[in-house]
Amino acid sequence: MADKRDYYEVLGISKGASADEIKKAYRKMAKKYHPDVNPGDKEAEAKFKEANEAYEVLSDPQKKQKYDTYGHQAFDPNGGFGGGAGFGDFDFGDIGDIFGSFFGGGFGGGRRPKNGPQRGQDIEKSLDITFMEAAFGVEKQITVHKYEKCDKCGGTGAKSKSDVETCPVCGGTGQEKVVQKTVLGQFVNVKTCSHCGGKGSIIKSPCPTCQGRGVNRKSKTLKVTIPAGIDNGQQISLSGEGEAGLNGGPSGNLYIRINIMPDKIFKRIGSDVYVDVPISYPEAALGAKVVIPTIHGKIELTIPEGTQNGDKFVLKGKGIPYLRGVGKGNQYVTIHVEIPKKLSSKQKELLKQFQEAMEPGNHDKKKRFGDAIREFFGQGE
Ligand SMILES: [Zn+2]
Ligand SMILES: [Zn+2]
Repeated sequence: MADKRDYYEVLGISKGASADEIKKAYRKMAKKYHPDVNPGDKEAEAKFKEANEAYEVLSDPQKKQKYDTYGHQAFDPNGGFGGGAGFGDFDFGDIGDIFGSFFGGGFGGGRRPKNGPQRGQDIEKSLDITFMEAAFGVEKQITVHKYEKCDKCGGTGAKSKSDVETCPVCGGTGQEKVVQKTVLGQFVNVKTCSHCGGKGSIIKSPCPTCQGRGVNRKSKTLKVTIPAGIDNGQQISLSGEGEAGLNGGPSGNLYIRINIMPDKIFKRIGSDVYVDVPISYPEAALGAKVVIPTIHGKIELTIPEGTQNGDKFVLKGKGIPYLRGVGKGNQYVTIHVEIPKKLSSKQKELLKQFQEAMEPGNHDKKKRFGDAIREFFGQGE
């Protein structure tokens, strides 16, 4: 208590200030240091508390008199008069409410009437498509179970139009004005109308189809256009196809997450396609023309002589169409040279000759390599 600031000093006023001046000064301080205006600011919070405490005392003529006579000692719980215990424990919740009315409900937020218009929830679904469907686009149907606006009453929840009446309590505004008496004087607090729950209207007889809710649970089948080039995990949104809103609120959205099923031949990274192509040992050694799959159809690829296991070829523009923009990715072909697992005795014999031809010094025999290998794999002419 020793280093407590003078209450007048706290509010920035002189000792002779009138009740009106005290109130004005307090409002000014409170506006400036209100926690809603200074979120997370400890210093502002402390100043706000200090101002509240000062005002609590100076706005009460009895307390003010005690303070004017004895100073802070008048309210010291460890001595003095005891009558002032509990100061400083100002309830921030109450202050928030008072300020709600001060500033036109702008502080504290979240005062939306619970029966007012509410936006419908979003719905998330996943959809499995094939590799080719993702590459070239497809039209799919998807069935969603959701709340739809009631056909019978058009979402009003009333049996007929004449069953909807303006709320007699709030006159259709959905809000009730409540006069609050506080330390700051009288304030008009606006709250949700207790009679209509904020809707502004009353239903005399509810719609028999939806029991007054305005929505019904239904299955709806929707057509979904999936664009060419869509990738795994991407979403398609259908706005307004989520759950219906309540009390005239808008519907939510439907988000469809694409799941591309794995393909036996093709793999994909972005817009590029990856394919493993097995070729025989002689094809790798001698070169060959091999037919390989692309997502755009089969094409003939020339494998040069001496192609190694794991060698890669790029087929430009043979990949997946770009989702945005013009053009396509590439196809990357990885060669896998297959080594035969079973050999006939003739093949073994020829392979031995081939091995000899590969040994250093046997240059002339190397020339016969081509013939030997062709014979070995039974592809001789
Ligand atoms: Zn209805
Ligand atoms: Zn009302």
